[in-house]
Amino acid sequence: MVGLLILIMVVFFIYSILSTVIIRWLNVKISRRVPHEHTIALTFDDGPHPFYTRALLDLLKKHGVKATFFVVGENAERNPELIKRMQAEGHALGLHHYRHVSSWFLSPIGLKNQLERTNAVLKRITGDETYLYRPPWGHLNLFSLWFTKRYRIVIWSHIFKDWKVKECKEHLLHRLKHADSEGAVFVLHDNGAMLGADEEAPRYMLESLETFIEDALNRNIRFITLDDAS
Ligand SMILES: [Zn+2]
Repeated sequence: MVGLLILIMVVFFIYSILSTVIIRWLNVKISRRVPHEHTIALTFDDGPHPFYTRALLDLLKKHGVKATFFVVGENAERNPELIKRMQAEGHALGLHHYRHVSSWFLSPIGLKNQLERTNAVLKRITGDETYLYRPPWGHLNLFSLWFTKRYRIVIWSHIFKDWKVKECKEHLLHRLKHADSEGAVFVLHDNGAMLGADEEAPRYMLESLETFIEDALNRNIRFITLDDAS
């Protein structure tokens, strides 16, 4: 019995954690930056959210900034008008699984379904195939590279703990302003409904983001989408 338990734990470790560490360490097929100087690619995960994503789109439009949205399939299905708006306003779209589940707990077929289902949802709404993929929490499994051959996997160069209200209030603006802008890929979150996040966090993220964008534009920093960077 103990032997079986140890075997299951070893198999799980190889399938999930070890695969993630090795793939990310070897940098196989994964990008963390864009090849442009004095440039930032803003990316937003976990949406669309009916209130915060709309507010975010308004903010980006006001400042003429384009970004990339890694959307959760079921949220996209519930808010198709926001997906259409992202497309119409020149933002890029990527997959972030149909449900916000870690690849560590998905079977190979489960992972394939998460990708295909989300791609199908976006294709129904936008008419386009999606080629960008960011796995939730950056978690990969042994089969991730096999099933994502047609996708470009982009994680991030900077992550800011913006899913917590306290972190947003106390540190986010400082962290954004002091991050480098040499082809950086920032990940922020326009939905606080995911496991471990504070529901209200996007409200405070948006406040800091607006101040940061105004400051960055004054410093002539360019904002691009991951489509522009390909
Ligand atoms: Zn996520």
